[in-house]
Amino acid sequence: MPPEEIDLQPVTHILVDAIGPPGKRVFYLQGWQDNRSVTLIVEKFQIQSLAIGLEQFLAEIEEKNPDLTQASGDYEESKMHILPPVDPLFRVGELGLGYDEDTDLLILVARELVAEDQDPEQAGVVRFWCTRSQLRAMSNWGIEIAARGRPLCPQCREPMDPEGHFCPKKNGHSH
Ligand SMILES: [Zn+2]
Repeated sequence: MPPEEIDLQPVTHILVDAIGPPGKRVFYLQGWQDNRSVTLIVEKFQIQSLAIGLEQFLAEIEEKNPDLTQASGDYEESKMHILPPVDPLFRVGELGLGYDEDTDLLILVARELVAEDQDPEQAGVVRFWCTRSQLRAMSNWGIEIAARGRPLCPQCREPMDPEGHFCPKKNGHSH
């Protein structure tokens, strides 16, 4: 069977969201093209690394194309929550970024996580064609929800990870 390949081109709305109790949350990436949606399961660290990668990528694009307007990254929280159907197509193994200069669209490429004994060529692929602002908004919101699930440190008010936390108020000692 050929692997599933889907292009949402262009995306009308894209978001990430987390469902579940703190520490056990499942993160989702959901893209819409009008009434059609694709929902994928992602890891929190994938959202966080995407946010870092995206900022570097946007800086490169804007440097090479100085006439482009800056991507805004603003979002309305009420519009950034997952919508039914929450019926994930696959769990993401890898997220990548591309850019189409002709349309000024970013392409978020999600590749399915495959088991070690599975042929990687059989991994499903979804490409979300987004504006720079859509993806920056999703990414900013992603950073926000990734941080929300963690309790705040009583000393410095920064979110703490379950493994511990490098507290600036305690001269960098972990507690
Ligand atoms: Zn602290």
